[in-house]
Amino acid sequence: MPVAGVETFEEYAAATASCTRCRLAQGRTQVVFGAGNARADLMFVGEAPGFHEDKQGVPFVGQAGKLLEGLLAGVELRREDVYIANVLKCRPPGNRDPQQDEIESCEPHLFRQIELIEPKVIATLGNFATKLLSGRPLGITRVHGQEQELTIAGRSVLLYPLYHPAAALYTPAMLKVLEADFARLPGLLGAAEPAPLEAGREPEPEPAVEAPAEQLGLF
Ligand code: URA
Repeated sequence: MPVAGVETFEEYAAATASCTRCRLAQGRTQVVFGAGNARADLMFVGEAPGFHEDKQGVPFVGQAGKLLEGLLAGVELRREDVYIANVLKCRPPGNRDPQQDEIESCEPHLFRQIELIEPKVIATLGNFATKLLSGRPLGITRVHGQEQELTIAGRSVLLYPLYHPAAALYTPAMLKVLEADFARLPGLLGAAEPAPLEAGREPEPEPAVEAPAEQLGLF
């Protein structure tokens, strides 16, 4: 369940700051909710905050974050143009992998974030985000660079799995793949736009949908 009774993005972020849904609350410096443009068309979802993220309260500010910024610059985007979040909002001790029960406790926060941001494209960074948001167990090596249209948080989005930048830090071959996958992002964002109208053509009128009497509050 997301935090109940909270409407706006800012209110939701503020409400998660005191989250105690899992054991990670005990060891964290702070909740790392996410950062960037809360109205972005493109959202990135990583794994979990590390040492620097936990201290600063901002995702992807360490080495992997620098690499992510470089990859963004390669497609003429800045951090402020996109939204960046993680599967887990709190740092696991010693940067160990997220555990299943932690993911289950934290995922309502991510789904609510997606619902409020309404991104067109969600780029998942690495296995944890990819498996959670695709709902499938296929690993990132098999699915990176393959976009798929999915319904997430009640809306149609393009899910685009990518290698995690941390994995590419010391592996030049992986970095090349990541760069090639990143290069497709502008095209995917364009494709996610509604098709432009043909010149001189009026838009089709919306079909009239009659609201059931129940919905109109008649009963
Ligand atoms: N790795 C992640 O997955 N997220 C961060 O915020 C930092 C490093």
